[in-house]
Amino acid sequence: MKSQDELGVSVPANKPLVVRTIKKVTKEQREYALKKTEYSMFSFPADLIYVDFLSDSGSGAMTDFQWAALFHGDESYARNKGYYVLLEAVRDTFERGDNPKKSINLILSGETNVKKLMDELYITSYEGGFVNGGIHQLTRPNGFIVPQGRCAEHLLFSTVATILKKKNKDITNYIPNNGHFDTTEANIVANGIQAVNLFSENLMDDFPFDEMDSRNPFKGNMDIKKLENLIQDKGVESIPLIYVTITNNTAAGQPVSMKNIKEVNKIAEKYDIPLFFDACRFSENANFIKEFEDGYNDRSIQSIIQEMFSYVDGFTISFKKDGLANIGGGLFFRDKGLFHKKFSVGEDIGIALKEKQILTFGNDSYGGMSGRDIMALAAGLYEIVKELYLNERKTQVREFAKKLAQNGIPVILPAGGHAVYLNMDKFFEGTDMKIDDFGGVGFTIELLKHYGIRAVELGPFAFEWDKKTPEQQKGILNLVRFAMPRNVYNASHIDYAVAAITELYQNKDKIPKVKISRGAELRLRHFQTGLQPIYKN
Ligand SMILES: *Cc1c(COP(=O)(O)O)cnc(C)c1O
Repeated sequence: MKSQDELGVSVPANKPLVVRTIKKVTKEQREYALKKTEYSMFSFPADLIYVDFLSDSGSGAMTDFQWAALFHGDESYARNKGYYVLLEAVRDTFERGDNPKKSINLILSGETNVKKLMDELYITSYEGGFVNGGIHQLTRPNGFIVPQGRCAEHLLFSTVATILKKKNKDITNYIPNNGHFDTTEANIVANGIQAVNLFSENLMDDFPFDEMDSRNPFKGNMDIKKLENLIQDKGVESIPLIYVTITNNTAAGQPVSMKNIKEVNKIAEKYDIPLFFDACRFSENANFIKEFEDGYNDRSIQSIIQEMFSYVDGFTISFKKDGLANIGGGLFFRDKGLFHKKFSVGEDIGIALKEKQILTFGNDSYGGMSGRDIMALAAGLYEIVKELYLNERKTQVREFAKKLAQNGIPVILPAGGHAVYLNMDKFFEGTDMKIDDFGGVGFTIELLKHYGIRAVELGPFAFEWDKKTPEQQKGILNLVRFAMPRNVYNASHIDYAVAAITELYQNKDKIPKVKISRGAELRLRHFQTGLQPIYKN
């Protein structure tokens, strides 16, 4: 008889204890609301939607363990107890592998032994890792809490840019990435640095949907040949940092292999350049490594994460991803590591970062977050490494992609970790839809109007095709993304979405072209502009 893991479906990983009911809304009501909100996905009231795939960011459901931790939140202005718990949880997650200390349990179990609390949590000192503790976090701060990932990016790149100018104001600097996320790129460019994408060459290769359970080509990898060429072409002095995004959100949410991380690390070491992760979906990436990379199947998720992070000098992270929490972000770098050495010019880089953190986000022990959210986040770091959770999540996204592929819908395969992406060039084959007709946007409007499902175009509209040079236009993929919130939807939501998408695919000649009716010139325009679908009579 087959074992529980051999049945070809995932073992159930949770049972919902709180349920939010959904309102019945008519097509006419949605049509009215769409018109009144300029057909923008970002302006449509969420309460009128059946299934919302707009983003997996901060949109997940928390576990009972997280809700319980939330009640222990401490709203003191300085050194709330969650601060200490979170720093310990970060060390447990990224440094301690199979030997976490789980000091959070001291708080959750109501420990009253003050000496124990001081020795193990409040007055303990720590150095040499990603977040110093006690006196070392005061003299050499290297861990920074902020409200979102982009705040960490802002802190890092604005500070780094100032130091680079001090070092040599005449050179252009470049930060390569296997795929810059939009806010990462925007924060780099806003500080006068160039952002370079080094996508893997196999990214848009075809992949058979029935092989998704047996192999994975790690299409999120960085192209290391291009990395070496860039370094030699521009010169080591022009590359202040190398970035690897796990998983690669911009490249259809595809995972990065441990082999690739090691290869990038080798190049970074060879040229003495600090290597950072954009670590937003580290546990989902670790789970892909466990399933598909030789030698990792028997390893725990925790030990794989520990190994991944042993190859980098620091990371920025949005704690809104990976099922961690509804809000939060962070910047962490290795104590006395390469980044610390290279950028502590005249003054300690950590001190400069801390000053900016206090200027913009508040005291360093809450960083713009509430004490409640800090506790929920710390608890979340222990929840998301659980294998049943990770497997069910991965299987859910994969099943969504598989069902679409079985219905002939052009979906990017294999499925990534957090979302399913449709290839809109292929979707509109055989119609008169051209790239600058924004067919992907027309598709999302019709999907919302007819079926109450929200997705987002990430193609010529979002990436501003009409403002780009022909060379830049070549780098724009024409995609629509369905991002999966964590622990929120089940098979019935997916089946409903698959049926709706299939119906639209079969009626693709009725999908309208779309014009920008207001604000075509605005920056970050997919959040702001007004749209007008052009219906044929
Ligand atoms: C979401 C995300 C960010 C930015 O994080 P926010 O919390 O949304 O500010 C950065 N990088 C990647 C890969 C992301 O997915």
